[in-house]
Amino acid sequence: MSLKYNKILLKLSGEALCGDQSYGIDPAKAKYQAGEIKEVVDLGVQVGIVIGGGNIIRGLSAASEGLDRVSADYMGMLATVINSLALQDALENIDIQTRVLTAIDMREVAEPFIRRRATRHLEKGRVVIFAAGTGNPYFTTDTAASLRAIEIEADILVKGTKVDGVYSADPLEDPNAERYETLSYLDILKQGIKVMDATSVSLCMDNNLPILVYNLTEPGYLKRIVQGEKIGTLVEEAADA
Ligand code: UDP
Repeated sequence: MSLKYNKILLKLSGEALCGDQSYGIDPAKAKYQAGEIKEVVDLGVQVGIVIGGGNIIRGLSAASEGLDRVSADYMGMLATVINSLALQDALENIDIQTRVLTAIDMREVAEPFIRRRATRHLEKGRVVIFAAGTGNPYFTTDTAASLRAIEIEADILVKGTKVDGVYSADPLEDPNAERYETLSYLDILKQGIKVMDATSVSLCMDNNLPILVYNLTEPGYLKRIVQGEKIGTLVEEAADA
């Protein structure tokens, strides 16, 4: 079967790793995500991953509780390294070769991020997890995902969430909320749709990188997406733009 996407950057929020408790790492969730990723690796898709740190600490909310913002952001970036190591472990447990590359140097733990090295790992069929965000405070891991996707020349940024795509309202609260099949970058920016922050969306817009928002709790969705099935919400340039 032919593939629609040969190289993807998968963005998972830190919450993808925590179970019903909203904090920490549930090994069963890491195992489930690893299984979903294995399905696309087995098809020959090159997979880069950015995982957030929200299940451990978010800079903005920690700062609102009195922590210095920059320190809190560095703590958030370190949280993404913890999550990356958890996901690497789960992937290696099912024999998927995985490398963690960090934007903040910590050689005893992971390789430093070097774009050419990342590309080489991907060509060899290894999954590459980009940890520590962009390495800079005041950014999010969504922006790190957009940046890394562009750097590795991914075909698409696939963002996993807990709902089936982007809705006109929160579907968990409003029964009349409708799911968009497609959206333009400007729709998101103008309407302030909360799917990714404006910095990450505009980075994708400027570099023409499509974004696909899907439900990461649905088994098999990731595989069906790379095979070209219409799932979730696709964000790209408006047809008449
Ligand atoms: N962060 C940062 N710079 C980056 C990426 C992340 O400062 O380039 C910090 C920021 O404080 C953020 C935290 O790391 O709140 C965790 O990332 P994020 O909130 O994006 O995680 P997610 O919501 O995806 O789990």
